[in-house]
Amino acid sequence: MEIFDLTIHELHEKLQAKELSSVEATRAMLARIEAVDDKVNAYITVTPEQALAEAEAADKRIAAGDIATLTGIPVGLKDIFITKGIRTTCGSKILSNFIPPYDGTAVARLKERGAVIVGKLNQDEFAMGSSNESSYFGPVKNPWNLECTPGGSSGGSAAAIAARTATATLGTDTGGSIRQPASHCSCVGLKPTYGRVSRYGVIAYASSLDQVGPLTRDVTDAAIMLGAVAGYDQMDSTSVNTPVPDYVAGLGAGVKGLKIGLPSQYFIEGLDPDVKRAMDEAIALYKSLGAEIREVSLPHTEYAVATYYIIATAEASSNLARYDGVRFGHRTEDARGLAQMYAKSRAEGFGSEVKRRIMLGTYALSSGYYDAYYLKAQKVRTLIQQDFLNAFQEVDVLLTPIAPTPPFKIGEKLADPLQMYLSDIFTIPVNLAGTCGLSIPAGFSAAGLPIGLQLIGKPFDEQTILSTAYSFERETQWHQKTAPL
Ligand code: GLN
Repeated sequence: MEIFDLTIHELHEKLQAKELSSVEATRAMLARIEAVDDKVNAYITVTPEQALAEAEAADKRIAAGDIATLTGIPVGLKDIFITKGIRTTCGSKILSNFIPPYDGTAVARLKERGAVIVGKLNQDEFAMGSSNESSYFGPVKNPWNLECTPGGSSGGSAAAIAARTATATLGTDTGGSIRQPASHCSCVGLKPTYGRVSRYGVIAYASSLDQVGPLTRDVTDAAIMLGAVAGYDQMDSTSVNTPVPDYVAGLGAGVKGLKIGLPSQYFIEGLDPDVKRAMDEAIALYKSLGAEIREVSLPHTEYAVATYYIIATAEASSNLARYDGVRFGHRTEDARGLAQMYAKSRAEGFGSEVKRRIMLGTYALSSGYYDAYYLKAQKVRTLIQQDFLNAFQEVDVLLTPIAPTPPFKIGEKLADPLQMYLSDIFTIPVNLAGTCGLSIPAGFSAAGLPIGLQLIGKPFDEQTILSTAYSFERETQWHQKTAPL
């Protein structure tokens, strides 16, 4: 095994045993990026000097007795995370020259815990997309098959795990952007409950849906990363002040007697046969481990995608109003007057998917349409939320596919945005409900492409989905397979 193949907990043990230094681990990771990232395009910015300085500092901490799990571990960040002194683009031309003056809370927490930041990862522009094709910095390729997309919008964060160019990464999930790329790249991806992790210093897409979470090689690493970034932050008024459990300590709880619900609306005709087979195998495995399987109903599922695309675009149109070429970001070189400067800076700086969404959202919020679209969507959102709360009266977790199909080809869905939007049907409801969900590797299609399994938990019960995933991982070992790169 190479250094870049190790999980956080494996690397941590080697660092503690002084078999390896953080500088060596970081050098190995930087060399790996150098060797394979040309093919994958997971990184927008690599930060070797800063990373090596942080690694040296980590080695000193370890020598002085620091036993924190993340100390010295090379980590990558989706380029939506504000990073002090490091360019932060959000995958957009409009921020292609933006160097933030501060670190956001999740990043600051990782750094305080000794993590080494190796670079900023590619993503769909402003996190709008499911395939990473809307990035100004070019599409990310799926390490399992370079002709396929890695999913999106945290495609770089997932592809870096699969390509072994970061030990762990952070992404964000507004409608599936951690879980869907994790599924397509065979890694573990966790979207925590809304309010669990601070979004201070995370570029906003749709503020009532956005949430920060980890992408990792295994479940233990996801528990480690979540523990590091979770918790109340006075800088984000939506972060909730409830205690953060020791997620790693709770992993071994097992699934005996656990009630697992299968929402009938998620096991539809048209589910890809390979995905269906992987789900059937997972259900059989959980049964054999002593879990109780029950069918449940989430009756408003069919309205989720439409509801999401009203709410998310409305919030995006408001959030993205701040990019005007005045204080930061791209400014047009040829404008006469202020109004033209705004218009041209935005016209030049935003890509077509972002423009489409700003227009949709502005329309839904405009007077005369507000009640018919936005207000209606908010009401349906409440019904969807209620579906989940009702289901959780009967069961402890829900088991579903992440995506209706294995990873698709680059370009395949570009001409038809609606097709792209519909591919998020199984992840979007979780964001609308505000609860937690994770993706865990659950096998491969006949063509050798990854398939992910989703476990959805009660609000703030990340612990149960993590331990339920851990039981599965121990039996299946899908996470041990590595992409042919
Ligand atoms: N694919 C969805 C969208 O395009 C979700 C993106 C996300 O979670 N950031 O909005």
